Amino acid sequence: MTTERAWIGSAMAALRQEQARSADTHLLRLDLPAFPGIAFYLKDEASHPTGSLKHRLARSLFLYALCNGRLHRGQTVVDASSGSTAISEAWFARLLGLPFVAVMPACTAPRKIADVRALGGTCDLVDDPAAVHDRARWHEQRGACHLDQFGLAERATDWRGNNNIAESLLAQMAHEPDAEPAWVVCGAGTGGTSATIGRYLRYRGLQTRLCVAEPAGSAFAEGWRTRDRKATASRSTVIEGIGRPRVEPGFVFEVVDHVIEVEDADSIAGMHALEGLLGRRYGGSSGTNFIACLRLAARMRARRVHGSIVGLLCDRGERYDETLYSTAWLRERGIAPPVLPAELDDALSATTRAGTTISSYPARSRPPRSPRT
Ligand SMILES: *Cc1c(COP(=O)(O)O)cnc(C)c1O
Repeated sequence: MTTERAWIGSAMAALRQEQARSADTHLLRLDLPAFPGIAFYLKDEASHPTGSLKHRLARSLFLYALCNGRLHRGQTVVDASSGSTAISEAWFARLLGLPFVAVMPACTAPRKIADVRALGGTCDLVDDPAAVHDRARWHEQRGACHLDQFGLAERATDWRGNNNIAESLLAQMAHEPDAEPAWVVCGAGTGGTSATIGRYLRYRGLQTRLCVAEPAGSAFAEGWRTRDRKATASRSTVIEGIGRPRVEPGFVFEVVDHVIEVEDADSIAGMHALEGLLGRRYGGSSGTNFIACLRLAARMRARRVHGSIVGLLCDRGERYDETLYSTAWLRERGIAPPVLPAELDDALSATTRAGTTISSYPARSRPPRSPRT
């Protein structure tokens, strides 16, 4: 028992050290001339050490398991994931010297599978994306500690503060002209991010509204509209990390003010537009968020409302070099090379290099209309 407590103490110390070494993520400002008086801010969660917003979640899930006495020295750790969480969890498991098994859909981007393996994790690939939960429980019954991101994300995060994403982005907004955003836009995978942001906005007494950007036909959108926790997706999506086939336990409908459904092709076009504007690659769900930000901005412009909109950049684009960034891969799945949807064309046609505030913006006046392979 005492050696067990000593191990928990050393594991907590390792997590504290990691937190001290990690810096907060950037909040990038983007001014698009097509939207006068509306400032866009993009929270760059790809800049975490493990490349996605799941770095925060993985740290919280390990803390939660440790402090609940569920995680022991030498114990195997397991979780179901569409990949980003698995990479972050594999990284933390290695930090704590624990074996890690990731249960992932076989269709997960190959680069993510390779990243988990490179971090010493084992990948248990299942054909049916909806089967990952049962498979993770199967490992749990055999003695593994199930971090259970889908069951616990919304609980494991300290939404009142303590370095949560909402506290961070609002503190970064404090000195901006419209410090209280009109909208915050995020996706829903575990639902942890939207629950944390929605709760924190209320906790702080702000008027900011929360919009979830969903792949068209996914379960969250349908469940939120009908308040039905048994809702399922009517379509699948190629956007990883969001667009779940079922309403996950961590989806808190009540704190979400609006849901915008985005077609996959438009999310991919949004992803390319971000590369053109920011000079680096982000994943598909960042594109989904960006399209939703532009739709909200178009509504504000039509009503002559000024203000700020904060969206999330969720993970690094390099993970999708062989999938979402490959024209051949998209064509195999019947997805045409991305064409700018109307709102994007409208938003970006007036954007020149001088029109953005990002000085490192590459010398190109507009984003590519078709992806590189
Ligand atoms: C998990 C994830 C999301 C959604 O975040 P949740 O907090 O799980 O709802 C969005 N994008 C990517 C790439 C993700 O991995």
